[in-house]
Amino acid sequence: MAQAVLSIDLDAITRNWRALSALSGAAEAGAVVKADCYGLGAGTVAPALAAAGARRFFVAEAHEGAAIRRALGAGPEIFVFAGHMAGDAWVIGDAGLIPMLNSPDQWARHRAALPGHAFGLQFDSGMNRLGLEAADWRAISAEALAAGPRLLMSHLACADEPGHEMNARQLAAFRAMTDGTGVARSLSATGGILLGPDYHFDVTRPGIGLYGGAPFADAAPVVRLSLPVIQIREIPAGETVGYGNTWTASRPSRIATLGAGYADGLIRAMTGKAQVWHGDTPCPLVGRVSMDSMGVDVTDLADTPETLDILGPHQGVDALATMAGTIGYEVLTALGHRYARHYRGGAA
Ligand SMILES: *Cc1c(COP(=O)(O)O)cnc(C)c1O
Repeated sequence: MAQAVLSIDLDAITRNWRALSALSGAAEAGAVVKADCYGLGAGTVAPALAAAGARRFFVAEAHEGAAIRRALGAGPEIFVFAGHMAGDAWVIGDAGLIPMLNSPDQWARHRAALPGHAFGLQFDSGMNRLGLEAADWRAISAEALAAGPRLLMSHLACADEPGHEMNARQLAAFRAMTDGTGVARSLSATGGILLGPDYHFDVTRPGIGLYGGAPFADAAPVVRLSLPVIQIREIPAGETVGYGNTWTASRPSRIATLGAGYADGLIRAMTGKAQVWHGDTPCPLVGRVSMDSMGVDVTDLADTPETLDILGPHQGVDALATMAGTIGYEVLTALGHRYARHYRGGAA
């Protein structure tokens, strides 16, 4: 095998969607498909989610929305978190996207550029990232509500910490801005779904949980990443491996060089911390992760592997992320474009 292979289990993704949909109770589960479905390939993954029953999709910006529309065809609603940015009117109109308007300026822009076109409204309930502040909302609420928004939403900053007081504070702020409007509401991503029914409202927005990541602890694993062994060498004790001579063999060692590195999203911070797997056996990375390769100590293996797995059943995105001092979201979305992508399953 010459190329590293990223295997993506579409059935695991749809199983995770169904599980998060069940956990969403009476609320409808949407699907967050921004950043190319967290790096897993929106053109394949979004249709699998639609086939499983997802009807409301969420992206970060309008051009992503247009790609999702091409993948899904007419029918599903596609909401854009960035709202209506300057220059986006054509793509929003053409692809039939629903911008989540974030400010009075966006509201004015949307009305002027696409009068009568669907929209939603995003509120800042305390995260201070995107959305209308309470005073903004007072200024436009009568007009905006009269125009019939499709969805009112906000986003939680600390939902992956169930005990954090910020959750209740944001819930109260969101209710204060949206109670009594009669419009469909959405507050929770994966973490918020797990906070329970108070946080569900009408529509939930799971992302990372679909793709097998924390905080959805019961997620089915979605990805396997198998790296090809380019070369194996025997080295005596005292020799070093990789840039900067950061690793020295303490015994005669067998070193495999794998064909992927930080240009493939396997960040240099994994140096000296991560491991790869040969079946059930872990093997430590040795030496610095290079741009296109990394070294592994395979001295203790009985056989000579052709590939080693850096993501798989024994080591998911969160485990690998923890070793590298980051989060599963970053590991997934950083996975590069040099992998052969193999999709398994899918409802089609
Ligand atoms: C990314 C994002 C989501 C999905 O979050 P996960 O933690 O991946 O489930 C939902 N809503 C907004 C506004 C987002 O930016």
